[in-house]
Amino acid sequence: MVIVHPIASGSKGNCYLLSDGKTSLLLECGISVKQMRHACNYNLNQTEACLITHEHQDHCRAVKDIMSAGIDCYLSRGTADALKVSGHHRCHILQARQVQSIGTWQVMPFETVHDAAEPLGFLLGSGDERVLFATDTAYIRNRFAGLTHVLVECNYDEQTLDGNVSAGTTPRSLADRIRQTHFGLENVLEFLNANDLSSVQGIWLLHLSDHNADAARIKQAVQRVTGKPVYICE
Ligand SMILES: [Zn+2]
Ligand SMILES: [Zn+2]
Repeated sequence: MVIVHPIASGSKGNCYLLSDGKTSLLLECGISVKQMRHACNYNLNQTEACLITHEHQDHCRAVKDIMSAGIDCYLSRGTADALKVSGHHRCHILQARQVQSIGTWQVMPFETVHDAAEPLGFLLGSGDERVLFATDTAYIRNRFAGLTHVLVECNYDEQTLDGNVSAGTTPRSLADRIRQTHFGLENVLEFLNANDLSSVQGIWLLHLSDHNADAARIKQAVQRVTGKPVYICE
């Protein structure tokens, strides 16, 4: 059975704990190692590894600290170079579309669309469970079969973002950048519609913007389109 434990989500920091009952993985380490220890009941060292999508601080603030604490970190070459951790013996390089075994998990990285060196998303398999983790991406090109858990960014919704541009609270140039680098409700719905969700047990929405996302509207829209339990991560 898969357990999803969101520790932190959003531009202030991202960190999620994922377990299949045998192997616990951290997805991102964008909060302080102190916060991570607290969230893990001071059993941080029982997590097998940490997967990191890209080099922006809200996703990897603690990378050097957790490597020093003895936790293996998995990330792309571009991300490792940007973070200057390639030489560390806890640094493991992932390549898009090459499956990596980590404990009882099979991790298949895939390319995402973001303003970073070599950003990745992850499809994680364990037995019959298939967990999708994708954040900080304008869209997802891939289609996935047999998904059971979907953890996906929903950074903004057009109505709120557009309203903020009209009101002058979000500059138009920033809004354009957000649309080119982050996953918005309309694209999330299109992505979900394009995939077979028949085995999905839950959808976790990540990295909502404080200003450009209406959480209630987003949750309702995803629930309506998918008929699945939807959780907003904060
Ligand atoms: Zn981010
Ligand atoms: Zn980012």
